[in-house]
Amino acid sequence: MSWLEVKDLKVRVEDREILHGLTLTVNPGEVHAIMGPNGSGKSTLSHVIAGKPGYEVTDGQILFRGEDLLEMEPDERAAKGVFPAFQYPVEIPGVATMNFLRTALNAQRKARGESEFSKPDFLKKVREVAKSLNIPQDMLKRGVNAGFSGGEKKRNEILQMALFEPAVCILDEMDSGLDIDALRIAADGVNALRSPHRAMIVITHYQRLLNYIVPNVVHVMSKGRVVKSGDQQLALELETAGYAQFEDVA
Ligand code: ADP
Ligand code: MG
Ligand code: MG
Repeated sequence: MSWLEVKDLKVRVEDREILHGLTLTVNPGEVHAIMGPNGSGKSTLSHVIAGKPGYEVTDGQILFRGEDLLEMEPDERAAKGVFPAFQYPVEIPGVATMNFLRTALNAQRKARGESEFSKPDFLKKVREVAKSLNIPQDMLKRGVNAGFSGGEKKRNEILQMALFEPAVCILDEMDSGLDIDALRIAADGVNALRSPHRAMIVITHYQRLLNYIVPNVVHVMSKGRVVKSGDQQLALELETAGYAQFEDVA
């Protein structure tokens, strides 16, 4: 069974259709890259999968492991293992990252019918994962994303992802604003989370990220549709030819 099946999805925002019949199938163990020019609807897709309000699905379906995702509330989606890492992570200055993570993780475990982490167990786990991502302990004491650099925000997202052990991850432009060292650390973190029991969608403008996170499938989006799919080679072709060749297809 596919873990994510998007079928002929049509989405409107404020009475304007943004996705015009998008189809995408992702199987467990696979990493899919979605590339495309600005405004092609990449973030819209990730928001609709996450259940962010303000998007009206007018046609089509999204199935998560065979279940109708669009019937689920956002927190139910998260509990079932859908993890979106947004292009612009929220800042919650008054809440220490550590406390935020523990509350969010325990809420998710509770929703799954699993026992909550005790404080010592949680601390042990979070320290272990943070260390593997080069996240210093004092960053965990600071407010969520408050004053974090681009690289710190991305590492924080990947830390969350590692703790939540999701089934489907959607990473929206995790490379934006990162220098090459920060990019490498973030990509290593993502690669460490690749698993036969996990599917990932990596959204990016640039081929460069895909040198570090090598996808199984590459899709090109243009004007609210997937207009071409292929392998890593497709990303390399885009790097030289650009997106203009797809403008007429959509
Ligand atoms: P991408 O992530 O590929 O750059 P987006 O999904 O952010 O593209 O945007 C796709 C199109 O939808 C753009 O034309 C954008 O202006 C429009 N759009 C996205 N969100 C909104 C919104 N909240 N209100 C109005 N238009 C929006
Ligand atoms: Mg954009
Ligand atoms: Mg975007």
